[in-house]
Amino acid sequence: MGEGRVQRERMEYDVVIVGAGPSGLAAAIRMKQLAAAGERELGVCIVEKGSEVGAHVLSGAVFEPRALSELIPDWRERGAPLVTPVAEDRFLLLTRTRSLRLPTPPQMANHGNYIISLGNLCRWLAQEAEGLGVEIYPGFAAAEVLYDTAGRVTGVATGDMGIGKDGRPTDRYQPGVELIGKQTLFAEGCRGSLTKTLEQRFRLRDGIGPQTYAIGIKELWEADPARHQSGLVIHTIGWPLDAATYGGSFLYHLEDRQVAVGFVIGLDYKNPFLNPFEEFQRFKTHPAIRPFFEGGRRIAYGARALNEGGFQSIPLLDFPGGALTGCAAGFVNVPKIKGSHTAMKSGMAAAETVYRRITGEPSAEVRRALEESWVWDELRRVRNIRPSFRWGLWAGLAYSALDTYVFRGNAPWTLHHHPDHRQLMRASEARPIEYPRPDGKITFDRLSSVFVSNTNHEEDQPPHLRLRHPEKAIAVNYRLYDSPEERYCPAGVYEIVRQARGEPYLQINPQNCVHCKTCDIKDPEQNIDWVVPEGGGGPNYPNM
Ligand SMILES: Cc1cc2nc3c(=O)[nH]c(=O)nc-3n(C[C@H](O)[C@H](O)[C@H](O)COP(=O)(O)OP(=O)(O)OC[C@H]3O[C@@H](n4cnc5c(N)ncnc54)[C@H](O)[C@@H]3O)c2cc1C
Ligand code: SF4
Repeated sequence: MGEGRVQRERMEYDVVIVGAGPSGLAAAIRMKQLAAAGERELGVCIVEKGSEVGAHVLSGAVFEPRALSELIPDWRERGAPLVTPVAEDRFLLLTRTRSLRLPTPPQMANHGNYIISLGNLCRWLAQEAEGLGVEIYPGFAAAEVLYDTAGRVTGVATGDMGIGKDGRPTDRYQPGVELIGKQTLFAEGCRGSLTKTLEQRFRLRDGIGPQTYAIGIKELWEADPARHQSGLVIHTIGWPLDAATYGGSFLYHLEDRQVAVGFVIGLDYKNPFLNPFEEFQRFKTHPAIRPFFEGGRRIAYGARALNEGGFQSIPLLDFPGGALTGCAAGFVNVPKIKGSHTAMKSGMAAAETVYRRITGEPSAEVRRALEESWVWDELRRVRNIRPSFRWGLWAGLAYSALDTYVFRGNAPWTLHHHPDHRQLMRASEARPIEYPRPDGKITFDRLSSVFVSNTNHEEDQPPHLRLRHPEKAIAVNYRLYDSPEERYCPAGVYEIVRQARGEPYLQINPQNCVHCKTCDIKDPEQNIDWVVPEGGGGPNYPNM
């Protein structure tokens, strides 16, 4: 314990869950349902780093209600915020000036699905969970995994509040709390900061393909009523990306004149000059897209990484004292562009398994339960589609058609992935990219965008973006790759300051961070370690 710090309080539960996303909340609800059916008392708590449930949740989102219907069959009667059924799917190939409508791939057909705010669904799920007796603590970040002397996970500790930049307690100091659980579920979402440490400690990725990722950047607009078509779903591929870069856009028309628009780019992109934020801004100026925003108003902005590794990249999920669930492990179905339904189902499977562990079957395995569920079959069938795009857009599309229509997901081979951070080419070999200036109406700059993400961090705290080797920021990133973090960070957190005299240096502005985790993933030397800041810090998304 450091100077001036006091003993942490301990709170004991049967199950501790880290993260109130769809996976953690579904797990908590399932656990309480099982306890009620078995007439048992079961203490379940969730700790959430956002200032409220949903504050850090960002998704498209077209939602497939399969897992929700299994969890809460009467969700309609109970008022779940699924009010906009998908009415029409359009799949467009863009060139610089034209758009060509393609047949919608079967995985992207959304009949029976809903356009939602995932943040709002989480808020509703949190009410359902609390109604069943789950204790939810928003504004508290799990900062440390706790172990017993045998190396078994016994829970987590929330971070201390009120530690200054210099590492000393300030007058705001409040010690963290130890949340002790018979079982602990980690539902931190994509690239969880504690999940990373568990994967290493328990070697959960040994013999498994590397996880791969994309960055998704999103805006929410209030559209001109004349241009809004409730239930319309548009996906595009092609421009402004070149054929070597994987990615595309989504444009979903929700209720109340809202349009969710976003751009997703695979983090295996090669050109260090590529700027995902600017690609997104440029996309909105396409003649087939721009009219949707004319006369409208942007109301929110945010960004988040998502998993793309799929079936080949699912790690071992079980370890002594707990398990991984949801996007912390990685269950996104990439061709469907959906991970919420699989995140929920994996949370439910984890809850069922953990309940069995607590009630007398200590060797029950979450991975086994998932292998027997529809999640496994769904992900196995599409496993070759995303990796085929490393041959480029055209070969990827051709292979995907073959894999879907001829092999029907049963090809007798499995394509492999490569780690995203190793894919960047040197700046000296890459083509610099010029981006147009924002017009402040349809396109914007990063700082005004971060402003509408309502991001806020206590300034006097130790940095939550840590360089393992500070000297590499210049010696490697700047000299070899022209500091790609200046461009891939959607919040402008990283800035190279070029001085008239002396060496340039990297300035980090952690208070702007929207917790997307891209820097933790894409840094070529894995030199950036994202750890949780003080609980409650980060974006405050209203309904992303
Ligand atoms: C741009 C984009 C578009 C997408 N579109 C769709 C779509 O249309 N349809 C679809 O089904 N899926 C979509 N997805 C995927 C979907 O959003 C995810 O699969 C889903 O959110 C995963 O749920 P989760 O509960 O595992 O994680 P998350 O939703 O990420 O939730 C994790 C929660 O844990 C909290 N947390 C993390 N670490 C800690 C910690 N240490 N302490 C305390 N709290 C912590 C976070 O703040 C967060 O609230 C999209 C994703 C993105 C990024
Ligand atoms: S600092 Fe890292 S995690 Fe934060 S917004 Fe930038 S890229 Fe995302």
